[in-house]
Amino acid sequence: MTHRVFVDCDRTLVNTEIYPIWSRTLFDPRKKFFFQWNNVLTEARPSAKAFLEEIGRQYEVAMLTLGHSKFQFRVLKELGLEGLVGEIYGPDNCESVPATEGFVLVDDMEPHSLAIAYKLRWLGHQRGLENHALWPGLLDRHIIQCQPFMGGMADEEPLTALLPSVHTRMSEWQ
Ligand SMILES: [Mg+2]
Repeated sequence: MTHRVFVDCDRTLVNTEIYPIWSRTLFDPRKKFFFQWNNVLTEARPSAKAFLEEIGRQYEVAMLTLGHSKFQFRVLKELGLEGLVGEIYGPDNCESVPATEGFVLVDDMEPHSLAIAYKLRWLGHQRGLENHALWPGLLDRHIIQCQPFMGGMADEEPLTALLPSVHTRMSEWQ
């Protein structure tokens, strides 16, 4: 079993919007590609690349996303980030998330949200009556919530500001 840093995709590393093909997106400065009869516009959080490079130097990195893994790969490729996130796991391939002993998940979702409970299940942590008292502690150890990135150049809480928190928690597993 290894130690990994998992990262979320939407609103954590990128902001993606999908428009019907007939929408006027021609002059939009964001990266654009065509996917299943839609125009996809996407942009990277200004601090995403530096953050991924930094954690990639020390840990194995993988992505947990509620989007389709192949779609998110397209998004990341468009932004030149695909080489920095490791494996991408979404609802379509979540059964192949590797067993991981020590991990953190950097995500814009609230730790007590259903989205986080869903992703933790992929990692073998199922919330239930028997562990209900231990659940907040588990969230504390594993989940690092970031401010959601809503697009644009503003990155009020850069992901790189979370690096000390990532290192501290990851050191608990070594
Ligand atoms: Mg998200």
